[in-house]
Amino acid sequence: MGAFFPLRFDLLLDWFYPPRCRFCKEVILGQDDKCFCESCREKIRVVSHPLCSKCGQPFLDASGEDHLCGGCLIRPPSFLTARAWACYPREEIDMHPLRRIVQQFKYGGRVSLGRPLGRLMARGCYEFFCDLPLDCIVPVPLHPRRLRWRGFNQAVILGREVSRLWGVPMDPFILLRSRETPPQTQLPEGDRRKNVRGAFSLKTEKSVRGKRLLLVDDVYTSGATVKECSRTLIRAGAKAVSVLTLARTVS
Ligand SMILES: [Zn+2]
Ligand SMILES: [Zn+2]
Repeated sequence: MGAFFPLRFDLLLDWFYPPRCRFCKEVILGQDDKCFCESCREKIRVVSHPLCSKCGQPFLDASGEDHLCGGCLIRPPSFLTARAWACYPREEIDMHPLRRIVQQFKYGGRVSLGRPLGRLMARGCYEFFCDLPLDCIVPVPLHPRRLRWRGFNQAVILGREVSRLWGVPMDPFILLRSRETPPQTQLPEGDRRKNVRGAFSLKTEKSVRGKRLLLVDDVYTSGATVKECSRTLIRAGAKAVSVLTLARTVS
């Protein structure tokens, strides 16, 4: 009986307040992720093979196999592998539904979007990560001043959902942002790496030594931020670092 009542209550709530698409507000009864309607989902390209076996960048030619992209061949990142749930073209950056929903979540004060978005990335990427041993989830940190201004760290909210669904503990205090940097979105590609160099530090090196960690963030653009986080963790003795983001841009 215990399980019966919450279940009925849930259906009753759906009847009176049917879940609506977080983007266009269309009613979306009967969808288990309850985040986007069918027509908005169609505009979102879920990352699929073939992709770069390192940074997870999807390739346009759908017939080939996974291989390393040019960027990873020239400058191999220190992380083991990176995956994102979905991607959007860099040039459509301002009108794409996924990009806009991430903006609403981060800058529009719609913190409630974090849970459904976190569920989408956790479910969508589970198959890839389920065979990879992970000791701890590490959200990409914000500088304390930006955290005070925004009121929350979007990576912590997304990471909490992944942690809950995958049963991997999360520690949001391992990695610290010790230097405040201008937002990466305002910088050209080449300056992003310089901008975040040395921006991260650790609470104690002991907390990461020998651990297999999963970095979580909202969007992978140039990858400069997660690469620098990964470098910091590996230098402190982490055994392996992987990366999971909700979205990534493709050129
Ligand atoms: Zn919609
Ligand atoms: Zn790559």
